[in-house]
Parts: sequence; structure tokens; C-alpha cells
Amino acid sequence: MQAYDLVIVGGGIGGSALATVMAEAGRSVLLLEATDVYQDKVRGEWIAPWGVAEVQRLGLYDRLMAAGGHHITRHVTYDETRAPEDAEATALPLGIFREGVPGPLCLRHPIHCQTLFDAAKAAGATALRGVNVMSATGGPDPTVVYEHDGRTVEAHARLLVGADGRTSQVREAAGIVLHQDKPHHWFAGLLVDGVEGWDPTLQAIGTEGDFGFLAFPQGEGRVRVYGGYPLDQAQRFKGPDGARRFLDAFAMACSPGNAALVAGEPAGPLFSYFNADSWTDEPFAPGVVLVGDAAGWNDPILGLGLSITYRDVRIVSDLLKASDDWRAVDFSSYAQERAERMRRLRFIAGLQAAVDMEFGEAAAERRRSLFERGAADPSLKAHGLGVMAGPEMLPPEMFTEEHRARVLGG
Ligand SMILES: Cc1cc2nc3c(=O)[nH]c(=O)nc-3n(C[C@H](O)[C@H](O)[C@H](O)COP(=O)(O)OP(=O)(O)OC[C@H]3O[C@@H](n4cnc5c(N)ncnc54)[C@H](O)[C@@H]3O)c2cc1C
Repeated sequence: MQAYDLVIVGGGIGGSALATVMAEAGRSVLLLEATDVYQDKVRGEWIAPWGVAEVQRLGLYDRLMAAGGHHITRHVTYDETRAPEDAEATALPLGIFREGVPGPLCLRHPIHCQTLFDAAKAAGATALRGVNVMSATGGPDPTVVYEHDGRTVEAHARLLVGADGRTSQVREAAGIVLHQDKPHHWFAGLLVDGVEGWDPTLQAIGTEGDFGFLAFPQGEGRVRVYGGYPLDQAQRFKGPDGARRFLDAFAMACSPGNAALVAGEPAGPLFSYFNADSWTDEPFAPGVVLVGDAAGWNDPILGLGLSITYRDVRIVSDLLKASDDWRAVDFSSYAQERAERMRRLRFIAGLQAAVDMEFGEAAAERRRSLFERGAADPSLKAHGLGVMAGPEMLPPEMFTEEHRARVLGG
């Protein structure tokens, strides 16, 4: 039998970051990760400026930069309803959203996870890979039974943390219910190598025909690209040449620079997900707290899962560091902040998906009208501030049906 202050199930971004911070604060931590090697599963590789601010507050920024972190400093929204020069003339500088943050931060997900896992180990956490968690129980005596290296071990903790992603075993065992929205569109992602001529400081999005694209450079000719397409096209990029056909879909008259992406080479798997939002009412139960996707996730159209996860880790670690009596730690302030944060982000994602990932003439006309009206009335584009600077930066009246109707022009 083993005893720790914290047992964390899941050594991805959330679990490894929390393990690092708590081990550095002198607590004993057991971190259990199922995989032996972090693989590209098409997960977050772009951290919003407000997420970077959370990384800085956690003291992890220098480690991400040393691992290859790459800042992007400009954004362009291309669209079939306007000329590329007009789109580029309204490029948005990305260093304006958070003090001391030059822009979003990009880092390959497997490298990001490994960097944090190594940091947790270096900080003194017992960090294990290739673990099979057989049971994870909360309550007054949180206990995890796991198999590792052919041994079955029972570990007790003062607190059990579920950082085990979307299909969280800890959430399930704690009886915490996950709510999910209806999917809005398909969303696929691919890492592209050998991209020559794409400005490494420029991120771009755009919609043309029945495809919406996003491109986030990582430096050294690598770009992480995503594409959204209608729900009734499930088979569109299936098959052995799916990744090539996916890249070909980036050829767009409205964004001539995409030719550099089309000429690149797939450098990882192509995975498609349907985009939807999910949430929990309370991401905690007696003896258990959830962080990151385990606690519910935002529609990836906004690319905010990492930022959300880092904020979870910051809030939970602050609560734990502030008290020695973890039985008395009250996670309701975390639950309230997270519920409002996720409600706001769900609203913004719904708006963004309606603008960028709906296709056909009526949707194109809606975007054209929004560009025109937004130039005169910046409040119509204010949801973008919520994505970059954080959802708490916007006034409550932005999160109403009236505002949505104003933006969408209906
Ligand atoms: C298509 C797509 C694009 C995205 N793009 C972005 C983006 O650009 N920016 C962004 O911020 N976010 C993005 N996200 C979301 C982001 O990847 C996630 O929100 C983030 O990875 C959540 O981190 P996590 O640590 O909670 O979970 P995960 O990254 O899922 O990590 C969970 C870890 O737990 C381990 N695990 C699971 N079950 C067990 C178990 N029973 N025992 C032990 N270990 C276990 C897993 O192996 C994994 O290592 C995207 C998501 C998708 C689907």
C-alpha cells in the first residue's frame, strides 16, 4: 500500500501540469499515465494569450519555450466574400490582448505532454507510464488500484484528481454527469511539414465553398491545420489518400497563400471529430476533483482546451496550496468560475461556428454583412476578444440571444 497527498489519473497537459506545480510546492504526488509514448491524436497545439498568461502564472512558460514553443503575432480572416488584399489589410496584431504575452503559443501536443511529464518527475512526483488504472474511488479515503510493470498496487491519497480526458474514468466512477451539446460540423486536423513561404508569425482562418480552414504555424516549416465541413459529409476525407484530399481542400482563391499548405506533406495522422461542447455541473465530488477535458470541454472551433485546462490547474493548485486540511477545501468557487467560463465559451463557440462553419449562399452573405457591419460597430466582433483575452473580459450582455441575433444579422 502506498500513500500520497495527491493521486492524479492522466498524465496529459492537465495532469502533468498539476503534478509539477504541486510537487514543486512540496506535496507528494503520484501521476499515472496510461500510454508509454505520447502520440499525435490531433489535439491542442495553440494556446490563446489568456492561456499563456495562465502558463506564466504557473511558472511553466520557460519550460514550454525551451521545448520549442513558438509565438504567433498576427491573424488574418480570409473569406470568399472579400479580396485577399482586403483581408490582409485588416490583419489583427495578437500581442495586444495580455500584458507580457506576444501572442498565442504553439507547441506540438506530444512534446508539450512529455515536457510537462518530465517536469513533474524533476519536481519530485512519482510519475509512471504504461499504467492500467483498475479502479479509482473517491470519498473519505480516495484510493486507486493500478497495474504497472506486472504488479498490482493500491495507492491512497488525500485527494484524487481526474485529468484523464474526455472519456474520464475518474468522472464516471465519481458519478459526475457529463452534458453534451449537439454536434455542429465535422472538424479534422493534420500536421503539415515542408511548408515553404508561409509567414511563421501568421495564423489564418477562412471559409470558401463548403470548407472552413484554420492554420497555425509552429516554426521551421511546420503548420498545424484544421478544416471544418458539413455534418452530412462524414466520408469526405476517409480512405488511404484522405490526408492528401484534405490538404487539397485548402486550395482557396480567397487565400492564395494556402498554396504553400497544399504543397506541404502530411506529418501525422488525419483525425476527424464532430465538434460539440460538453460540461459538468460540478467538477468535484467528495475526495475527487476533475481538471481539463475530464471536467467538460469547449467546442474545438475556438482552440481553447489548453487554456481552459491551464486555468483549471491554476485555480485548483491555488486552492490546494492555500490549505493543509484538504478535507476542508471547498471547490465550489472553482465550480462556479468554471461553469460561467464554460457557459460563456459555449456561447462564443456557437456564434463562431455559425459564422465560420456554415456553408452556402445565405451563410456567405451573413459573413459578408458581418464584415461590413463589424467595421462600423466593433461590438459585433467582440466575441473574438473573449477567445484571445479570456471570456471574463466581456460584459454579461454579450452572452444573450439579442447579441447573437445582432451578430448574425437575424
Ligand atoms: C480536433 C481538436 C483540436 C483541438 N485544438 C486545440 C487547440 O488548438 N488549442 C487548444 O487549446 N485545445 C485544442 N483542443 C483541445 C485540447 O487538446 C484539450 O482540451 C486538452 O488536450 C485537454 O488536456 P487534458 O490534459 O485535460 O486531456 P488529454 O490531453 O486528453 O490528456 C489526458 C491524458 O490522460 C491519459 N489517460 C486517459 N485515461 C486514462 C486512464 N484511465 N489512466 C491513466 N491515464 C489515462 C491519456 O493517455 C492522456 O495522456 C483540440 C481538441 C480537438 C479534438
